[in-house]
Amino acid sequence: MVNIPASLHLPRWRTLTLLAVLLAPLLLPLHYMAERYYREQLAEQNRQTLDLYVANLLGTLGRYEVLPDMLGDMPALRASLADPADPASQAAANQLLERIRQRSGADVIYLMRADGYSQAASNWQQADSFIGQDFSFRPYFQEAMQDRPGRFFGLGTTSRKRGYYFAAPVRDGQEIIGVVVVKVDLDEPEKLWGNTPEQLLVTDSFGVVILTSNDEWRFRASQPISAAQQAVIARNLPYPPGSLKPLTISGKEWLIQERTLDTIGWTARILAPRELLERQVRTVLYVGGASLLALLLLLAVMTLRRRHYLERIALDARAKRDLELNVQERTQDLQTLNQRLQQEVHEREQAQRELMRAQDEVVQAGKLSALGTMSASISHELNQPLAAIRSYAENAATLLDHNRIDDARGNLKLIGELTTRMANIISHLKAYARGARRAPESVVLQDALEDALSLLAARRRGMNVELIRDVPDAPLWVQAGETRLRQIINNLLTNALDALIEKGPPRRLWLIASQDEKGVTLILRDNGPGFSAEALARAHEPFFTTKATTQGLGLGLAICDTLLRALGGHLHLSNHHEGGAEVRLHLQRGKPGVAPVPQEEMRG
Ligand code: ADP
Repeated sequence: MVNIPASLHLPRWRTLTLLAVLLAPLLLPLHYMAERYYREQLAEQNRQTLDLYVANLLGTLGRYEVLPDMLGDMPALRASLADPADPASQAAANQLLERIRQRSGADVIYLMRADGYSQAASNWQQADSFIGQDFSFRPYFQEAMQDRPGRFFGLGTTSRKRGYYFAAPVRDGQEIIGVVVVKVDLDEPEKLWGNTPEQLLVTDSFGVVILTSNDEWRFRASQPISAAQQAVIARNLPYPPGSLKPLTISGKEWLIQERTLDTIGWTARILAPRELLERQVRTVLYVGGASLLALLLLLAVMTLRRRHYLERIALDARAKRDLELNVQERTQDLQTLNQRLQQEVHEREQAQRELMRAQDEVVQAGKLSALGTMSASISHELNQPLAAIRSYAENAATLLDHNRIDDARGNLKLIGELTTRMANIISHLKAYARGARRAPESVVLQDALEDALSLLAARRRGMNVELIRDVPDAPLWVQAGETRLRQIINNLLTNALDALIEKGPPRRLWLIASQDEKGVTLILRDNGPGFSAEALARAHEPFFTTKATTQGLGLGLAICDTLLRALGGHLHLSNHHEGGAEVRLHLQRGKPGVAPVPQEEMRG
């Protein structure tokens, strides 16, 4: 068994979660770096925007800065101030101011007398013309009257429009006789800002919001205003009434960059919503987190694959080990089986040897017994006629002593018959012993059959036996010996005729011959009593006979059987279902040819 490491079975997710927790702090530096990067980028961008805006604002204002000085030198204006009551010079001044306003793009240009009232104005034709209005409270007037450049931001008292005021004195020699004022519209620079997420905030020296992209913030105080400052404001009225609500811009919400406009004491700020920055940082964090997650998932997949791989290796190893064990077991089994087989073979061989020995013994015993039986039978068969011969001979001698010549001759005749019988027995035994040794030859069955029939023809006719033949005309070549085959058929025909003696007519004898690829068959059937059960079982045995001792020797079928076996054929005994014996003779087919003169004949 291969042990799979316990860690392989543990759920990987726990490890991965732990890894995720451990890796999560990596997002902090990412957050820091992303924030820094985007903040710098935003700051740079906003700085440029702010610079551009400030440059634009200062440029706008700068365009008008010198205009009052130049106007102060104009004789037409001076003339109007010199004679304020003269309508012609006032009209001339009005038209001049209007013309210059049109050319310069200023909001309003007007001329003030030394008492602070407006003498002439570019908007002289309008209903809300400045002419005749008292602006002496405005600081730019006072500054100009003191021969200083007048600068002021404020809401127009008539127009309610924001403006930046440039003022310069108008002199008659050394004496300041009036002030010329150029008001620049500040609504335009504010509109320039456009609709962006970044907000603009321009505060004046009091910290009050004068220009902004956010309407809510306008004219609100971004820092506390002191009492002195409030007094100045109350005197100069730069803002609409009800203004100066405190405004707190939280650094948490906004990223603030500022530029100080030293020349006019203003501060311009650009406010970028932190959300803008945070959104980008968040995106980076999401991407970072997603990458981390993807990394973890990749790791998980790889770990999973590795685990599967290891498991497969372990399984393979286990399967291999199992297989090896199996093979070992099988080999062991096979070895055991082999040993057992060897042992069995050994035992079989031993048993075989013992069997053969036993068989030999049996055969030996059988031989001895057969020899015993045979010698007993032979001696019985021969002793009987011998005894008879002896008795007839003694008797003949006695008869001769009594001169009974004819009776003695009769005895001698009987002795002659007995010797014939004894010679017969001996010739049978010789044939039996000789026949088994001959090699088979190719002979024609019909010839042997005819020979045997002709030998017994007289007897058959005497018994009135009907012969029924079913034998083909074409020669049936069989492996046999001429004499032996004739002897066999002769024996069988003799037995049939013997059997038919016991039966009354009609007596019939069938002879049927046929051949197939296995060989040639000759059937001898009679309608006699048939074989008895004992005869069927024992007729092959030598000296088995049911006939009277004088008739039968019990050697006929035994000899036939032995001869046939030697020829490669066999004998089959049975009873026909219609009654009578049926003897089947099976012979091997012989090669067709001219039947040679049998050697055994010549030898015989
Ligand atoms: P034997 O003819 O000298 O008796 P066989 O060996 O030829 O010896 O025959 C043995 C026995 O088989 C015979 O005694 C007889 O009982 C039986 N037998 C043989 N042929 C026939 C036959 N055609 N019909 C009936 N019985 C037969």
